[in-house]
Amino acid sequence: MLSPAVDNLVAQLTRLPGIGTRTAQRLTFHLLSVPSEEALALGDAIAAMKERVRFCRDCGNLTEDELCAVCTDPRRDRSIVCVVEQPVDVVSLERTHEFRGLYHVLGGALSPMDGVEPSDLRVGQLLYRVEQGGIEEVVLATNPNMTGEATAAYLADRLRDRVRVTRLASGLPVGGDLEYADEVTLGRALSGRRPA
Ligand SMILES: [Zn+2]
Repeated sequence: MLSPAVDNLVAQLTRLPGIGTRTAQRLTFHLLSVPSEEALALGDAIAAMKERVRFCRDCGNLTEDELCAVCTDPRRDRSIVCVVEQPVDVVSLERTHEFRGLYHVLGGALSPMDGVEPSDLRVGQLLYRVEQGGIEEVVLATNPNMTGEATAAYLADRLRDRVRVTRLASGLPVGGDLEYADEVTLGRALSGRRPA
């Protein structure tokens, strides 16, 4: 309507979660009005992130190296592993300061309706880590919604005979995501975990 370049940026921004056309237009006009360096810094940040960030070899957390900061921290307790869906969940759990073990990031939750099978997640790697020995407890901290619960039930079945399996205590907002739970509630769910 105005310029193909403006239309294109609006279209790109609209593809982001939670960004409607009106917000996309406001952001586009804002970027148009700021100095070039400021606008280009955003583009550079996106490019650098996509170039540098990768998944930790052991746990699937985000890192710029082969292993993430948690896996390389010698103070972490290697006998307990907390299983989460996404890297953002690691951030939420770290904020509680309740957990001193390692993580395993699945990369999503099982959802047969959306075609997400165990082979699409880091399930094999989790079983492998447990088989390697040294892990005494696996805490299932998938989201308290339908796909998260289904994933936890599936993993509990696969792991139960090999290792102690626990689940976050109830009290988390049902149907929501871990990332929306406050630190106190999440910390309490972690310390009050129960057998899965
Ligand atoms: Zn790691």
